[in-house]
Amino acid sequence: MSLDSDFLIVARNLAIFFVVVFWFATAYWVYKDARRRIEDPWMIAMATVLGAVPPFVGPIIYMFFRPPEYLEDVRERELEMRAMEERLAETDLHCPVCRAAVKESFLVCPVCTTKLKQACVNCKAPLEALWQVCPYCETPVEPTAVEFPAFESRPPRRRRRSE
Ligand SMILES: [Zn+2]
Ligand SMILES: [Zn+2]
Repeated sequence: MSLDSDFLIVARNLAIFFVVVFWFATAYWVYKDARRRIEDPWMIAMATVLGAVPPFVGPIIYMFFRPPEYLEDVRERELEMRAMEERLAETDLHCPVCRAAVKESFLVCPVCTTKLKQACVNCKAPLEALWQVCPYCETPVEPTAVEFPAFESRPPRRRRRSE
């Protein structure tokens, strides 16, 4: 019966071997996961110890208390938020009628079709209300009488006949 007992010993050793390997694997998994979620090296070390001791239960406890997000996701979201803030700061201009965000180069409000700016008759560049000449092609700007009541730049008409 020595063959059977030899077989039993080998099987037992193999089982122990696999349990130990699995134990190391779970501890290593906790270490890798903690590195992706935690910044502080001391906290990573503590998580790794918890992942190793108690065996197999530690990783489950770790999974309950680990940070919900990966560090790279947190960083990505912060970058995205900053980019969005910059984009918002760029489009600080608003349509005077419907308050929709408009760009410096818009001739009309795309939402309510209010005329925002005059286009140069020669090069079609958007012109500011106070400009007397197109800065892009030197074409003189024709004065527009009633299109910009809010931005009336011409001096009020003088009464000459009175007195
Ligand atoms: Zn509008
Ligand atoms: Zn022009």
